[in-house]
Amino acid sequence: MDVHVGGDAPTGAADLMEKVVGLCKRRGFIFQSAEIYGGFRSTYDYGPLGVNLLRNVKNAWWEAMVQRRDDVVGLDAAVLSPPAVWEASGHLSNFSDPLVDCRSCHQRWREDKIGGVCPTCGSTEFTEARAFNLMFKTQAGPLEDEGAVAYLRPETAQGMFINFANVLQTTRKKPPFGIAQVGKSFRNEITPQNFVFRTREFEQMEMEYFVPPAEAQHWFEYWLEERYRWYIGLGIPEEQLRLRHHDAGELSHYSAGTADVEFLFPWGWDELEGIANRTDFDLKAHAAASGERLEFFDQPSGERYVPYVIEPAAGATRTMMAFLLASYSEDEVGGESRTVLRLHPRLAPYQVGVLPLSKKESLEPLARQVLASLQPHFMCDYDVTQSIGKRYRRQDEVGTPWCVTVDFDSLDDRAVTVRDRDSTEQVRVPVDGLVAELRRRLDQV
Ligand code: ATP
Repeated sequence: MDVHVGGDAPTGAADLMEKVVGLCKRRGFIFQSAEIYGGFRSTYDYGPLGVNLLRNVKNAWWEAMVQRRDDVVGLDAAVLSPPAVWEASGHLSNFSDPLVDCRSCHQRWREDKIGGVCPTCGSTEFTEARAFNLMFKTQAGPLEDEGAVAYLRPETAQGMFINFANVLQTTRKKPPFGIAQVGKSFRNEITPQNFVFRTREFEQMEMEYFVPPAEAQHWFEYWLEERYRWYIGLGIPEEQLRLRHHDAGELSHYSAGTADVEFLFPWGWDELEGIANRTDFDLKAHAAASGERLEFFDQPSGERYVPYVIEPAAGATRTMMAFLLASYSEDEVGGESRTVLRLHPRLAPYQVGVLPLSKKESLEPLARQVLASLQPHFMCDYDVTQSIGKRYRRQDEVGTPWCVTVDFDSLDDRAVTVRDRDSTEQVRVPVDGLVAELRRRLDQV
């Protein structure tokens, strides 16, 4: 793994990164892909705990962006797409990064990310920058001629633009309304680095919000606020999150305003999400290239217009990494040090650990009954190995907010002990009221 710690990095940053990466591997959050073959070019596999955490991140986004709104609908578009899409969007000609080679050590870098100094050897001598297109090109079907060329999408957004008319016709939505999508994107990054922060295969959570042009600035500001609060609501501390507006020189050619939600990573402030006012650039480009009408006809006023688009575009895998970094902590309980992930209970890979106090057979039926009663409501782990203290530590380390211990008294009083991850406080709760009590706790945070 390649960690670059920048000038504005917090103290102990490299250490934190190492600890989190180590924890991810040791506890089954994230594995190097194709590890038994020596690993494959900074691609990663999400293990039993990572898949839960990543899914919870995506679900929390979907709930906020689609489920709780009547002005946003979902979409799941194809990853493989024809060149026409990327020609119209501008990706074939513009989606490139400036590639330079260090003249001294011959490492390749993205010129805009290194500040004129080779991060490996310190040299300031580079080759001329060349534009390197980041799209993965492949073939669809058995023919290898030009007609068979396809691309893996480098962003999910174009799926929303090319389905604009389909969604409009089938849902009867009218601006302001949005189309949201979560899915894989692929970019042939020049320097993938910093664990899952920048990888060639990653997941995005994007929403295109179509608005009357005159309302674009209002909705741009609205989404900045909404998106910032989403991260805070899921436990990112305010001092580790900021909104940074792009200055005129940094804006993409189509953008009338862009701001990034940035997190204080171990190497300094870096982007989690970009929120942009993309104007009517995308719909107009696809309308011109396809010959289709991509506009909105407002029946009552008889007005016809091309909506502007406000786009909050976030990375799911990158955001998951931010949640891991922000939640990692070490403290002392009863004179013993412990590692604890203070993840928001909604994000934690397991909400509940069910732990029979001992392996004695007499405890198993009740413990399994408790587990079965919780499983329809929460993601649960069931663990009988080693001492109860060790099992608490193991659950703390992966962020499980509540442990439920079934002991010998439980057989008589049909009550169990619920232990809280953060305070380590333990209370006795009747088995019959357990689901309601845990649900109450979950709703409270
Ligand atoms: P960068 O400047 O870091 O290359 P970008 O500004 O091109 O990123 P966008 O096109 O705005 O990124 O993509 C939206 C989001 O998708 C980013 O904020 C990030 O969270 C995520 N993302 C983009 N590229 C990658 C990648 N290679 N690996 C992981 N996540 C990514």
